Amino acid sequence: MEGQFWDIRLETISREELEKLQLYRLKNTIQRANASLFYRSLFKQFQVKPDAITKLQDIQNLPFTTRNDLSSHYPFGILSVERSEVVCFHSNSGAFAPKKGIFYTKDDLSAWSALVARSFTTAGMVSTDILQVMVDFGLQNTGHGCEIGGEEMGVLVIPAGNISLHRQIQLMKELGSTVLYLPAGILPSLVDTFYDLNLTPTLDTDVRLIIAGEDLLTPQQKNKYDNLLKIPIIRSYGILEINSPGMAIECEQQDGMHIWEDYFLVEIIDPVTLKPLPAGQWGELVITTLNQEAMPLVRYRTGDVTRIIDKPCGCGRTHQRLDVVSQRLDDLFFIQGRALYPIQIAETLKRVPEVGDNYVIYIDTENNNDQLIIEVEVVDNLYLDNYGKLECLTKNISTRIFEETKVTPRIKLVQNNHFIQQNIKHLKQVVDRRNKS
Ligand SMILES: [Zn+2]
Repeated sequence: MEGQFWDIRLETISREELEKLQLYRLKNTIQRANASLFYRSLFKQFQVKPDAITKLQDIQNLPFTTRNDLSSHYPFGILSVERSEVVCFHSNSGAFAPKKGIFYTKDDLSAWSALVARSFTTAGMVSTDILQVMVDFGLQNTGHGCEIGGEEMGVLVIPAGNISLHRQIQLMKELGSTVLYLPAGILPSLVDTFYDLNLTPTLDTDVRLIIAGEDLLTPQQKNKYDNLLKIPIIRSYGILEINSPGMAIECEQQDGMHIWEDYFLVEIIDPVTLKPLPAGQWGELVITTLNQEAMPLVRYRTGDVTRIIDKPCGCGRTHQRLDVVSQRLDDLFFIQGRALYPIQIAETLKRVPEVGDNYVIYIDTENNNDQLIIEVEVVDNLYLDNYGKLECLTKNISTRIFEETKVTPRIKLVQNNHFIQQNIKHLKQVVDRRNKS
């Protein structure tokens, strides 16, 4: 057994003892969920008796919860405690994205900080580390989660947020940051910025570990950035609707992410038949929270495709591992480390009167970085003949898209009916042309 543990008893708990704890917590969770408007009505509709859970497999008789359920009951419909008991709220930031929110009680926050501390310790962080958190603070929960988990461990946390990468590197040098937490999508730009500044991460900074979350990171990409930066990159998994980070993380074996099963009951289902799949098969990850007080979720369909690795891990932890998330089933996509929904772009374009009905969203790799390119039809082709008007309209659209998504797009205006005439498919869709290796 190598490495450090945050809570060795719980991290190496026997399966038998773990399953007992899960069943006890599952029963409580179903009772608690039943206190929310949403679950009370869902359980009634599916004739679920909250006290009918007698074994873990009974979970399979319960209905699923979807992202749409969360948005249509936003913000208070899924709350299972009195509003006076909640102390923290997080949500997504775009005005036009499907709304998802999460509330925490005081106990939820302390459980979350312990889970983040457990995750960061599993990744190899220690109390003498200096953690630079390179994600937004505010409505999204990731920055807050890193901060409370780091503080729980006693590390110095630098809430760097979403500042320029040049300034991030200055901070690393000034304060001697040893661990970075960042969205995987900014790794290419980080490598470029080190290169532009003529700096070598291992020589010019003290960074010794990178924890990458949020975005998909293929094994090829991980190898590539491990090699370019010469710093180990550890994958972390979490979702806005529950905890991010603090759900699953790689240990030093780097063979899948341990998901904390004392807090999360994991199923993998076939997204078409909705039937559970055995360990080892790829399918949609479904999570039932086991300890959330304010907003328990029952059989929540994450939209993330992965599989369970259930063979023992060399680190000694007994919690099963999730393989790399290989795909997302919903239309959420990540660009430059930010999560976007196509509807955010659709709703923004709708509000620009000079824009026609059709557009296509392209994501390309340019100079190693993600680039958002939106080709948009104009209502009146005269705009294309007047350079001043063209420039003004392009700028207006670009500013509005940035306001909504915090990503600066390149706008290409095209003639009315351009897509039909050119027989271009994927109207109003996202075409991801990025290099995945
Ligand atoms: Zn392990």
